[in-house]
Amino acid sequence: MVENGMFDLSGRVACVTGGNGGLGLGMAKAYVEQNASVAIIGRSQAKLDSARAELEKLSGSEKVMALQCDVTDRDAVQAALEQITGRFGSLDILVNNAGVNRRADEPHMLSAEDWEYVIDANLTSIHNVTSLAFPYMKERGRGKIINIGSMMSIFATGYAPAYAASKGGVVQYTKSCAVAWMKDNVQVNAILPGWIVTEMTNQFKEAFPDRYAMIVGRTPAGRWGQPADLGGTAVFLASSASDFVTGTAIPVDGGYSVW
Ligand code: NDP
Repeated sequence: MVENGMFDLSGRVACVTGGNGGLGLGMAKAYVEQNASVAIIGRSQAKLDSARAELEKLSGSEKVMALQCDVTDRDAVQAALEQITGRFGSLDILVNNAGVNRRADEPHMLSAEDWEYVIDANLTSIHNVTSLAFPYMKERGRGKIINIGSMMSIFATGYAPAYAASKGGVVQYTKSCAVAWMKDNVQVNAILPGWIVTEMTNQFKEAFPDRYAMIVGRTPAGRWGQPADLGGTAVFLASSASDFVTGTAIPVDGGYSVW
């Protein structure tokens, strides 16, 4: 474990939605490495079990919880938060990371079902979890909420209209909460990841070779990111180092959004 001054998360409790894989697991690892207790939430029990095993290797079992919970189900979210605060005593950090995508060739071809599925999982779920988590933070007198947007919070494509709408909404929701809750010492920020290799995107290179090449060509870093690339920003926004930072949307994208 690293003692790291203002970035140290000893005594802090984090909940990472979708922490059972991809970017969420990358951020959960960064938190346990900074000594936080971490609860991960997801739907797949198999992914939860394997993610928990990875986290326990870093921190031991007493600081890790893995909870099966669909973030679109408000009652299930309330039950999960009660379990987390019951075991760890508080909730200091919430990362709203769970997300899905559905594509169509053009916007009018996206079905109503796919629209609803994406908006529910990516946007409505953030309000579900945030509105239920905030009272714990208010009571404690501090909190950090980190919402995961996307390059689609800034740019758009014709093939993922619900995803882009949801991720644009994530930024505006972040600002709304930031304005309301600085008085309660709760900072609310967004991270806008660039193109990161995870289960969500691992078919991308084969399915869209031209777009894949365009992305690498446009990214000054000259590569797609890895989940670990988000760790530093996720720790910064969860730690006391960011106590005067709220309402921002920080791209972590190897420079993709600069030009
Ligand atoms: P993954 O598919 O690897 O991870 C998404 C996670 O969300 C899974 O662990 C999944 O768990 C969980 N999840 C999805 N829906 C629900 C739900 N209803 N309830 C609970 N958990 C849910 O994708 P990424 O790691 O790539 O994506 C993580 C976040 O980062 C998403 O919000 C995504 O939009 C965003 N993002 C990703 C980028 C990338 O390039 N990879 C770029 C920009 C943003 P389970 O399957 O068990 O439900």
